[in-house]
Amino acid sequence: MFEKTERTKIARKPDRGRYDRETVHAIIDEALYCHVGIVVNERPVVIPTAHWRQGDRLYMHGSRVSRLIEAMAAGADICVTITLLDGLVLARSGFHHSMNYRSVVIFGQAAPIEGRRAKLAAMRAFMERIAPGRWDELRPPTGKEIAATGIVALKLDEASAKVRAGPPADDEADYAHPVWAGVVPVTESLGEPVPDPSLAPGIALPAYLGRRTGAKG
Ligand SMILES: Cc1cc2nc3c(=O)[nH]c(=O)nc-3n(C[C@H](O)[C@H](O)[C@H](O)COP(=O)(O)OP(=O)(O)OC[C@H]3O[C@@H](n4cnc5c(N)ncnc54)[C@H](O)[C@@H]3O)c2cc1C
Repeated sequence: MFEKTERTKIARKPDRGRYDRETVHAIIDEALYCHVGIVVNERPVVIPTAHWRQGDRLYMHGSRVSRLIEAMAAGADICVTITLLDGLVLARSGFHHSMNYRSVVIFGQAAPIEGRRAKLAAMRAFMERIAPGRWDELRPPTGKEIAATGIVALKLDEASAKVRAGPPADDEADYAHPVWAGVVPVTESLGEPVPDPSLAPGIALPAYLGRRTGAKG
């Protein structure tokens, strides 16, 4: 369980709060990207970026000289949010419309991943998450590419999840109001892979893509 801190204690709709690692990890693992909030020159900025998790750490990467990676590697305070949208909740009044979602908020300071071995292991883990088995098929990274890539890891110490599920919660008197009410599910899914027009002839769709997308190789 994550400890509820002054920052992560959910005040608004606390019944939707979750602090168990299983829920937080599952949301992190299902999402392909997060948003990182950071204060730069005394002003807040929120930047979307890809992430992956290894154990109790959230990893992010980018150009070593990007503003975000540089600031995170220097130990800036960050707030990472991750959102999975599950549905539009259409109620009988405008007031009670809502969304079904699973979201996570994480506070902390990231640390840079240093050294060729550690960076390569992290890059492999990232690729494994996107397309398991692909790393070993690729042209190996060059020293220059590894050096140009900044990777940071944020230890999952201070985090909360919030989850809304289920039908609208209308006022009792409104249930008789003659308007359709319910939930419109929202899903994010991988589509049919589109081969690169420059793909050399005779290269079939890898099995790991067929499995994930349902496409036939
Ligand atoms: C897709 C989506 C749509 C939403 N739409 C609305 C909307 O239209 N209007 C609205 O008021 N709210 C909406 N919410 C809920 C919103 O994220 C906040 O929970 C809510 O606005 C209360 O914010 P607060 O800062 O006052 O919360 P507080 O309860 O004061 O927040 C305290 C702490 O609780 C934790 N926390 C708060 N919210 C979340 C969260 N969503 N996930 C994980 N931890 C959290 C954080 O650690 C935060 O620092 C939406 C959420 C999602 C995911």
